Amino acid sequence: MPDIPVKRAETYYVPQPPLAPDAWALVPPAARCARWYELRQQRRIELPDGLLLGYITYARIDAGRWVADCPCGSAQVVTPTDPRLGCPECGAAWFPLTFPDDVAAAEAAVAELLPAERFWWHPDDAAWNRPPPEQLPVDEPTQPAAAPFREATT
Ligand SMILES: [Zn+2]
Repeated sequence: MPDIPVKRAETYYVPQPPLAPDAWALVPPAARCARWYELRQQRRIELPDGLLLGYITYARIDAGRWVADCPCGSAQVVTPTDPRLGCPECGAAWFPLTFPDDVAAAEAAVAELLPAERFWWHPDDAAWNRPPPEQLPVDEPTQPAAAPFREATT
């Protein structure tokens, strides 16, 4: 399988033509989702000014992307290089994100799976879509079992 890295905000929220590929180079990675939403919704998206302290939001790998949930129910692609979530849906606040201490190890734990099958949760995260412990492998508690490979029949 080709080496396909886990998507992060800076590799997911990229400008589309006619914008230059580096048009958002000076936009902080966590704010690029607002520029991306603006292009799709054809309206200005205001991100919050303040950082909400004391609220724990975990980043997880979801279908090959680093994702975090906003309390409003929206989710955005995020990045460990700018660990905060500014929701373009509700604009409540900047939420500081908790990434694993070893981001590379989390990404390596899912590297052998197809991107759509890559899921990883922080050990302290009680995310709504996290499988119960009895469905996780014993030796790798944060990585769900991969779907069985099926040969293509033509
Ligand atoms: Zn929100």
